[in-house]
Formats: sequence, C-alpha cells, structure tokens
Amino acid sequence: MERPGVAVTAGGPIAAARGLCACHVCQLVSRRVPEASVAHCPRCGARLHFRRPGSVQRCWALVIASYILYIPANVLIMMETGSLISYRRDTIVSGVVHLWKTGSWMIAVIVFIASVAIPLLKLFSLTLLLISVQRRSTWNPRQRTRLYRLVEAVGRWSMLDIYVVTLLAALVQLGSMATVKAGPAAVAFGAVVVLTMFATMEFDPRLIWDPLQKEEFHD
Ligand SMILES: [Zn+2]
Repeated sequence: MERPGVAVTAGGPIAAARGLCACHVCQLVSRRVPEASVAHCPRCGARLHFRRPGSVQRCWALVIASYILYIPANVLIMMETGSLISYRRDTIVSGVVHLWKTGSWMIAVIVFIASVAIPLLKLFSLTLLLISVQRRSTWNPRQRTRLYRLVEAVGRWSMLDIYVVTLLAALVQLGSMATVKAGPAAVAFGAVVVLTMFATMEFDPRLIWDPLQKEEFHD
C-alpha cells in the first residue's frame, strides 16, 4: 500500500545502512562510524547498537517461560468459591464451563477470550515473529509489523483477565456468607501476562525489515 508523502518503499534504505543509529536510552539519532567497534551516545553516553543486542534470544527465553507457565495457569485451581450451600474449586476452563451452564454466557465468553484465547494467540504470534526473523524471512514484512503492533496493543489490555477474576470475586461476595479465594493458577497466570508483555517489549520490530537489505546489522 502506497502512502502519500512516504517515499521509502519496503526494500528502501534503512537508517542503519546509512550509519545512523538511535540511542536505546535517550532515543537521540547519531551517525556512527562503521569501523569503530564500540560507540557511545554523544548525549547520554550509553553504548550505541544498531539493533538491540540479544533481543531475539531474550524474547525466546521469555516466550518459552510463558508457554511453560501457561500449563499450570490452566491446569491448577484458579479460584475457590464457597458458600453455605456449595463449595467449588475451578480451573479457568471449568470456571468457563460452569458460567456457561449457569446461564452467564456473556461472562463465560469474556473469560474464555481474555484468559485462554488471547494469551495463547499472543504467544503464537510472538513465536511466528521470532521464527520468521531468525529464518531471515522476507514474507510480508508489513503484515508482520502490523501483527507485532497488535500484540503490543493487546498487552496493555491483558490485565483484563485480572479484572475478570476481580469482577467474579465481587459477584460472588455479593451473595451472603460467600467466600472467594484465588488459587495457585492465578500466580502462574499473572506471570504469563507479565512475561508476555516483557517478551513483546524485548522484540525489536526493525529485525523484520532487515532481511530486505543486503547488509547485516547485528550490533
Ligand atoms: Zn543517549
């Protein structure tokens, strides 16, 4: 898609090819001498890198940790609810099923989307981006950049899951003599949300566009 006023095409020159380097701390763009092995930002003195060093490795580590924690988040007890007449221990999925069966379809759908579908879709998206960057894929960089922006935007709303649990707790507490306790899955779930957000921050989306260039920029 051509945009008016934007002359650079998908395979056009990138800043790094012209020796321009943005400081990761203060964002100042400066010209870096290609021969110099170590360069520092003229404004804040931080070390300059064309690309965030080790971003792919750190992103992988966070994504793998999130996949591992996603298992206890779904297998362990998320919430214990008790009242005078009943006592329930629910995982995320059994909670969704219970909500559906008792007629709270809307809340069941929200909890399913926020707690099961979105975290998994975010992890799959990050995995796809990481694999494509490591294979130096030139496939549809604009769509992949959009996907990254989407994952980044969703990250801010991930705490929705926590709100859902809070909302459920409030609903149950409204009934007399009822108690609600968060189970161990809540900790794992919170960790998945936070680690996925860190993984998204760690990923350098400029890496998507680098394979379209002849030169390589690692540092
Ligand atoms: Zn700086």
